[in-house]
Amino acid sequence: MKDAPRPSARERQLQGWLDFYEELGLTPFYRRREARQREAPPARLPTSGAPPPRPAEPVAPVVSGAPTPAPTLSLFGEAPGRVEDDTLEKIQADIGDCQRCKLARHRKNIVFGVGDPRAELVFVGEGPGADEDAQGEPFVGRAGQLLTHWIESLGMKRSQVYICNVIKCRPPGNRSPEKDEIQTCSQFLFRQLDAIRPRLICCLGSVALQTLLGKSVSITRARGQLFDYRGTKLFATFHPAYLLRNPNANRQVQEDLRKIRQFLR
Ligand code: URA
Repeated sequence: MKDAPRPSARERQLQGWLDFYEELGLTPFYRRREARQREAPPARLPTSGAPPPRPAEPVAPVVSGAPTPAPTLSLFGEAPGRVEDDTLEKIQADIGDCQRCKLARHRKNIVFGVGDPRAELVFVGEGPGADEDAQGEPFVGRAGQLLTHWIESLGMKRSQVYICNVIKCRPPGNRSPEKDEIQTCSQFLFRQLDAIRPRLICCLGSVALQTLLGKSVSITRARGQLFDYRGTKLFATFHPAYLLRNPNANRQVQEDLRKIRQFLR
């Protein structure tokens, strides 16, 4: 019996990404239509030294400008696609005028993040709303005013923390982000967190928590607890928009803020 052909280095790398994202619960995977089309022409032997056609791009994250380290399959091990000497400027430049997902069509502005690039505390929300889309800054609407109030109650200013979202473009009608949008965009959040290296990441709501923990967890059960995210402490509380709809949850949020204050002391 003939042995199956051995996978190429590129195929092994792609499989590593797919396994990692499956572990995060971000499946199924599809190939982009244009990738399939690019792949379509029948293989021709190169003539006159012309380079062979490029293989189709993987849908899994691509870190441009840097060789992607071999991904490990542990959620809490070495970060996938960790870019050496990464900076927020480089990440923003890599995002560019992003057209990687369907949200690009509807947005006015990409909402990258604001605050201190060396912040000890990072807040991660879900995705921009209408006000954020209009201004290009996260958490500037009603939920943002409440978040600002929380930050000030910690004895800090907005400029002393870093604030960003899982997805950088507003979903139409403020719907929840879809899996493929999170899958496409979260690579930039991972890089932002790697570049900042805060002492504490505070997830606002379940989308941020589940994206960073890589599993489905209930915010009601997980809030107020410390988790590990690639060697950094991860914490979660309710999303400020949830609190605006459910003021009864304020007691729990105040408890959570007290824990954050204690942690950072
Ligand atoms: N809600 C979010 O999750 N992020 C924002 O930036 C604003 C509202």
